[in-house]
Formats: sequence, structure tokens, C-alpha cells
Amino acid sequence: MAQESLALREQNWADDTLAAHAGLPVSHSSAATKACKGKALWQASVYDFDSVVQSQSASYAYRRFNSPNGDELASAVAALEGAEAGLATSSGMGAIVSAILSVCKSGDILITHSDSYGGTREFFSIDLRAFGIHVIFEDVQNSTLLDSALTQALAPYEKTKTQVRAVVFLESVANPLIRVADVGAAAGVCEKHSALLIVDNTFATPLRSKPLKQGAHIVVHSVSKFLGGHAEVIAGVVVGSRQYVDEASKRAGRWGLTAAPFDAWLALQGVRTLQVRMERCWCTSAELAERLSNSQIPLQVNWAPKCSVLSFEVPGGFAGADKAVSTFQLIRLSPSLGGTTSTVSHSASSSHKLVPVEERQLLGITDGLLRLSVGLEDVEDIWNDLEQGLIAASKIEPST
Ligand SMILES: *Cc1c(COP(=O)(O)O)cnc(C)c1O
Repeated sequence: MAQESLALREQNWADDTLAAHAGLPVSHSSAATKACKGKALWQASVYDFDSVVQSQSASYAYRRFNSPNGDELASAVAALEGAEAGLATSSGMGAIVSAILSVCKSGDILITHSDSYGGTREFFSIDLRAFGIHVIFEDVQNSTLLDSALTQALAPYEKTKTQVRAVVFLESVANPLIRVADVGAAAGVCEKHSALLIVDNTFATPLRSKPLKQGAHIVVHSVSKFLGGHAEVIAGVVVGSRQYVDEASKRAGRWGLTAAPFDAWLALQGVRTLQVRMERCWCTSAELAERLSNSQIPLQVNWAPKCSVLSFEVPGGFAGADKAVSTFQLIRLSPSLGGTTSTVSHSASSSHKLVPVEERQLLGITDGLLRLSVGLEDVEDIWNDLEQGLIAASKIEPST
């Protein structure tokens, strides 16, 4: 578990300084490693000891439980989120599973929105339901709907005075429609009902929003996206109070969900350049959103400031989207986001294919919708590619 995040925050450094220095050494056994400042890779599955007594107080013994590199990554993200502690996991899903199952048990209630990340939705609707957790899909970004969903879900238990925990899981920016949550408002409603608020801050990054400061209890990240930033690592992070992180860490250790040292080490290189990458992507995405909105081909564009992902409805439905994607030269179809290159994904057939069709239509995740993750290329090159794809799509007959 990350020990140093508070110390980092107490220095009162700004995010860019914290990110550039990500990987302040945690307490390794050898003083020499302290000089490495997060550059050493501890690719070991096990550590050995001089005595039983020494082994009893060791920070690291067996890699499945924790590793110095995992702790450095967790500590860096905890500092950026203003969290007391952090845990690095093998993936974003590893973070979500460890966090949820350390606070939810059979009989408890979980309320979340239906357009959450596909893997999350599957975990909730298949696994949590199989474990006896009462999963409710509601638009939890809407405080009024969240309030009434909690009131309704908790009412039967209040009557019988049964102890039950309600957990609300919220993405601070939900994709593909780039719906931005009011985390503070959701936290207020959760407090009223004594519910726990877990926020997935992957799309926002800690540079855009710090949910713990707005009243969330636990924050999870897929480090595989912007934090890692180079599309070469799968990892995740859970941050929050020491108590929550300790509980999640015990489970991640037992279940084998902690981050691999090399993955954590690679991800930390990404965190160090987070600020410059994000500022560049935000700038480019603002320009592209504006040009798309004013384009001669009428388009519905979904975008928010300080967000490097945007989506738009291509004319011609599925056939139009397919035509645009196959016309793009620079922008590759790729079922992820947050790397150095611009990529596009077709949400209806990938991230949101498990959302029932009628629900997808209601949400606005149509067959013509493309999600663009803006990379670090020159804005004119991205725009030219986009324009060629859209022109090609506008010339085809709409699909039925
Ligand atoms: C990708 C993603 C996840 C899952 O992360 P993995 O690292 O792929 O396991 C969770 N939430 C969001 C919002 C994501 O984009």
C-alpha cells in the first residue's frame, strides 16, 4: 500500500509537479534504492530474509501481495487524487472487482448507470447478481433519479430494520456520449442515504476531477488508458482512505489481482507526462469538436471541455460508420483509448454491445456513433483524416 501520497500532497505541489516526480521511493529495504527515485524495476516474485524476525516486519515478501513498483504507481495516483492510500492492480477491472467486493456482500445493493464501461456492466449484471448482490441500473448521474432509486431500494429494509449497504458506482465522465457527472451532487444524495460512493475516474483523469474531494469514498482507474498513456500496459488503481484501500488490498492479494512490477513501472513513465499529454489532447479535442459541429455535413457531436474523447453520429447509420472507419488513414479502429495516437471505436458493436438495443437507442448509442480518442498528432492531420472519412460516409445510402 502506498505510504507516501499524503507526504507528497503536504508539499503543496501542483499536479504537474506531482506527476513529473511520480514514483517517490517507498521504503525499500536498501538505502541505495532510494537514490533511484522510482526508476528501479523490482522484477522479483519473492524476497528472502536473514531471520524470521526480519521477515515478520518486511514490507515485501511475495509479489502477489504487493511490490515496490506497484506501490510507487499507487502512491503517484493517490497523490494526484489527494487520497490517503492507493493500491495498484493488474487492470482497471481488477481495481473495480477489488473495490466493490471489499464493500459489497450478498444481500447488499449496487446502483449504477447503464452506459458504464462494458466490462463493468458485465461484472455487475452477471457476476454481482450471481453473488446475490441486488444490482439496479438507473441514471445515477441524475441526482433526482439517484435519490428516488435509493429511497425505493432501501425502503423494504427500513421497514424490517435489516442492515444493508447501498453502494453507488458512478463514472465521472461516461462514454461514449461524454456525459459529465456532478460528483458533489451524487455524494450529497449518497450521504443522505448512508450509501457509499465509488467513482470510476478513468475518462476524467485526476487532472480534470478529484472525486474524493467532492465526497466520493473510493476512486478507481483503468491505468491502461490515459494514466499509462502509451497503449502498452494493462493496469489499474484503487485510491481512498487507508481503511478502504487496506480492505481492497487484502482481497487483491488473495485473489491475485495486484499489478505486475514491470507494468507498474511502465505505467509510471506514463504518469510522469500526464499533464503535458492531457493539455495537448484537450486543446486538440476542443478544436476538433468545434470543426465537427460547424462541418458542412450535419453532425451530432458529444464533447465536454477538458475531455480528450469525443463522439459523433456519422450519416448513414452502421454503413456510414463502417465507411468512415475504412476511409480513415491515420485514425485506426481500436477498442481502447488514451494512447499517443488518435483512435476510433464503434461503441454499439464493442464497448456497449451488451446494452440491450432498445436501451442503447434510448441512451443515444446509435449504430452510426463513433467515439474518437484524440492523440498527440498535429490537429490538421487528424482533421483532414476525419473530413475524408465523413465525406465518404455522407455519400453512401443509409442502412436500415
Ligand atoms: C477500460 C476501462 C475500464 C477497465 O479497465 P481495464 O484496464 O481494461 O481492465 C474500466 N472503466 C473504464 C471507464 C474504462 O474505460
